[in-house]
Amino acid sequence: MRVGDKFCPGILHAVPAKDGLLLRIRVPGGLIQPDQLGVIAELSATLGDGQIEITSRANLQLRAIQPQDLAKLVEGLIAADLLPSREHDRVRNIIASPFAGLDRQELLDTVPLVRELDDRLTADSAFAELHPKFSMALDGGGRWFSRETDDLALRAVRAGDEVFFQLLVGGEPSDMSVTSARAVDCMLEAARISLRIARQFEIPVRGRRIIAVPGATATMMEGLSEFLTPCTLPHDFAVEVETPVGISPTRHAGLASVSPSVPLGRLQAGQARLLSTISKDYESSLRLAPWRGIVLGAIPERAVREVSIQLDAAGLSLDGKDGYRGLSACAGIHGCDASLGDVRAVAVSLARQLAGREIKPGWTVNISGCEKRCAMRNGATAEMEANESGYSLKLHGVSVASHSSPAAAMEAIVACHKDQDFAAEVDS
Ligand code: SF4
Repeated sequence: MRVGDKFCPGILHAVPAKDGLLLRIRVPGGLIQPDQLGVIAELSATLGDGQIEITSRANLQLRAIQPQDLAKLVEGLIAADLLPSREHDRVRNIIASPFAGLDRQELLDTVPLVRELDDRLTADSAFAELHPKFSMALDGGGRWFSRETDDLALRAVRAGDEVFFQLLVGGEPSDMSVTSARAVDCMLEAARISLRIARQFEIPVRGRRIIAVPGATATMMEGLSEFLTPCTLPHDFAVEVETPVGISPTRHAGLASVSPSVPLGRLQAGQARLLSTISKDYESSLRLAPWRGIVLGAIPERAVREVSIQLDAAGLSLDGKDGYRGLSACAGIHGCDASLGDVRAVAVSLARQLAGREIKPGWTVNISGCEKRCAMRNGATAEMEANESGYSLKLHGVSVASHSSPAAAMEAIVACHKDQDFAAEVDS
């Protein structure tokens, strides 16, 4: 077990933060077992701050761990089978849609491939050398939620009557495809080649760094030639801008997916326990989502109303009108030394003001404690950032304030949401 601030967190790699130690639990494909979520809820309630953070790679974080409790916490996570390989603690970054195998738009169910990839990744010690941020996406070709650039991605595309996986390296689409039967072989070999190229050119094992090396993409394609077939494939994918909240039909008769709002991407221990119980009661899968949310994969339609009532009572609403839709905030003053403002309190206050309103698709707000903007992905409609003299504010990319009070900035954001004159002077 290591403790330090020079590395990316894992279960065995605790990072000190202002509120205590922080651990990150990798959850390949966001596929978490209900019992595992139940265990994490108990550990968070007894040894942490009673909250569980969902990250934008659909992993989980526990905060505010005291050093004397670390060993017990790690023991509990290992007992729940959340660390199948000690040496692969931080390299199981496998991304998949939370609607894999469920949504009607999905072309292929990637869940079995995610499991196979994780098993084979953790069985080979060579992959322990991958960068802790190295991510591999297996996408079923439905709605594309990932806001991150995955180092390697296989995205299902239809070509005539057949479905293949298109290879992307460092976010760049190629005109190469692989069958689903060889998809995992291809992904693992691409990861091996990435390691070799990174070693040779002494660069981090990251997709974008690799494709920037002249000739490296050609080397990669040559190394993968036994898996890949050239074909003309799409080079632009629309990223889904709307955060899914609510009930959606599945491809399975009589079953619906339930996606509650998770305010600021943090589950309270009690909420996590409830989700775990509902998942077990209805034998539904639980999937963590890259919009820092969670999906109950397949709930019987006859039970959806009852489940909705239970979730709503626990603060996990389904109507998208709790004010938190599209709203993100970083750890803020209680969790990060760098924070210049209590951004989470501001976010809660703003959510109260926005509650009850219909949020427009793609409308997002980010509130950050400093210029690093850790919780922001791909910009935001409204960007509020704490500084030494208040908050700066950008609306639709236009700077409208540099030292606003929180109240004035929030007022401008609410006005912007109403489509009023967002360029109004708000410094006060
Ligand atoms: S944005 Fe700044 S204040 Fe917020 S968590 Fe990141 S480093 Fe800390």
